[in-house]
Amino acid sequence: MKYTFDIQRTTTPKAKPDPNTLKFGRTFSDHMFIMEYETSKGWYDGRIIPYGPISLDPAASVFHYGQEMFEGMKAYRTPDGRVQLFRPYMNAERTRKTNERMCMPDIDPELFVSAVKAIVDVERDWIPKKEGTSLYIRPFIIASEAFLGVQSSNQYKFMIICSPVGPYFDVPGGGIASTKIYVEEELIRAARGGVGYAKVGGNYGGSLKAQENAAAHGCSQVLWLDAHEHSYVEEIGAANAFFMIGDEVITAPLQGTILPGVTRASVIELLKKWGMNISERPLRISEVVKASEDGALKEIFASGTAAVITPVGELKFSNSNLVVGDGGVGPLAQKLYDALYGIQTGKLEDDMNWTVEV
Ligand SMILES: *Cc1c(COP(=O)(O)O)cnc(C)c1O
Repeated sequence: MKYTFDIQRTTTPKAKPDPNTLKFGRTFSDHMFIMEYETSKGWYDGRIIPYGPISLDPAASVFHYGQEMFEGMKAYRTPDGRVQLFRPYMNAERTRKTNERMCMPDIDPELFVSAVKAIVDVERDWIPKKEGTSLYIRPFIIASEAFLGVQSSNQYKFMIICSPVGPYFDVPGGGIASTKIYVEEELIRAARGGVGYAKVGGNYGGSLKAQENAAAHGCSQVLWLDAHEHSYVEEIGAANAFFMIGDEVITAPLQGTILPGVTRASVIELLKKWGMNISERPLRISEVVKASEDGALKEIFASGTAAVITPVGELKFSNSNLVVGDGGVGPLAQKLYDALYGIQTGKLEDDMNWTVEV
């Protein structure tokens, strides 16, 4: 292997959580990956150490100007006990694009994937076995130089932490359930020329207010509209959005405001393989409403690593609402979930060559 890392094992391992009551992102494994960067040296000293707090100078750039990024991926345990990742090189390539936009140092995709594999290998026993569970992996980079000028930092830390997670939906026996989504007509997530296509913290801090609006309307997430006309559909919460109208499946094109999801790309590839009519094109919310009135709106669903596929049963506007199909889980959402989740967990043959064994 091209990249190897020192491993310092914990002497006080934690008890593993009860797989039946696992929540998302609340428990963390015993170790973490950490690597340093300095402009004069490049990336160096990648190592695995016991999980715990880190010390940073209060003037570190990340605290003041938000120069940072993160990724999200999962490790799955297969029925025969192997451990696999889902398309990790896509996360590595997305990291390069995010870093380029944020004036942060490039990382060789081989280094990124080697680090992910190394920490997952050490934390093998932290991958829960129960149906619907997995190990969520959170790589992130923070600007750590102590300097209060608004400029790109000369020092960074690249870290990876891991969290055993339960099924996203509380469905007996596993699977997916439909959700209600609030159409946010005032607040926006990302504008052309901005950082919407990059997984950077500020995009999410800035989204909390809309999330509060959604919750106040009894919804789990927001449907974001474009920043300029507040008219085109963009994303659902921190997931990509798909609409099936007649026999056409539509998702927003990648023009800088949409996060290019690994799940989104995989959904598109599967739909093409199945010979379906998939378009990456601008879609007005008014077209969705009209299709609903005409009986042509078949399904809406979101795609992302956390929930894989989230079917939308209802769209709520500030003073109206729209039920999608019969309000339950649509057949296409179910078929996509079964295919993706089956490949991710090794229950189905990986005929797309998407998984990477650890
Ligand atoms: C992470 C994320 C997604 C989904 O990306 P995946 O790679 O499929 O997990 C979509 N939209 C936003 C805003 C995101 O942050």
